[in-house]
Amino acid sequence: MSHTVIGRAVVASKNPDKIAELETLLTRHGLVADLVRGMDWPDVVEDAPTLEGNALLKARQVARSTGLPSIADDTGLEVEALGGAPGVHTARYSGPDATYRSNVDALLEALRGVEDRRGRFRTVVVAILADGTEVVAEAELVGEITLERRGSSGFGYDPVFAVDGRTLAEMEPQEKDLISHRARAIRALAHALTARTRLVVSPPAH
Ligand code: IMP
Repeated sequence: MSHTVIGRAVVASKNPDKIAELETLLTRHGLVADLVRGMDWPDVVEDAPTLEGNALLKARQVARSTGLPSIADDTGLEVEALGGAPGVHTARYSGPDATYRSNVDALLEALRGVEDRRGRFRTVVVAILADGTEVVAEAELVGEITLERRGSSGFGYDPVFAVDGRTLAEMEPQEKDLISHRARAIRALAHALTARTRLVVSPPAH
């Protein structure tokens, strides 16, 4: 597949776990020739009502602060039995001082005794190009919330999110990077960059 390669760009995140995954994926797809590291910018208040809104907020503010093309992602975990929560509130599910640990504890508690444990990760990625064009892509990963933590790889909710019986934290990083919501969104971004349009990729049937 031929796609537009972004010359220099900055990953609009301060989360080292997310940066690591995004850098691997962007490099693998040859989307960015020169990933600029070590830049700083004022913290972005992620108060938009949607994942797309928050991804746009991050990408725009970081592009403005750094003067560079930027790539941002916003990810939400949507659980059927919780009516799609935590959704846009995934990062702060357990409160303003949330940690990975407290968020997972809150999720397991909210689903205590609940049989329907289906959920999905949804990722929206936004690239802002040197000419100001904004390209949006989105993808999801369907799975289920386990009864307890399993595995030590990955980050965030990975230890309690299972696909075909294994949690993302039980997979090697390379395996997560093949199937994840973020990987699919970056693949969708590569397609969208070709078309300079928005593209939403549906999950494969499970
Ligand atoms: P945000 O996209 O930075 O707002 O992150 C939303 C929340 O989802 C954070 O609590 C992350 O820890 C969590 N999260 C984002 N991506 C992943 C992932 O790939 N696996 C598990 N948790 C994730």
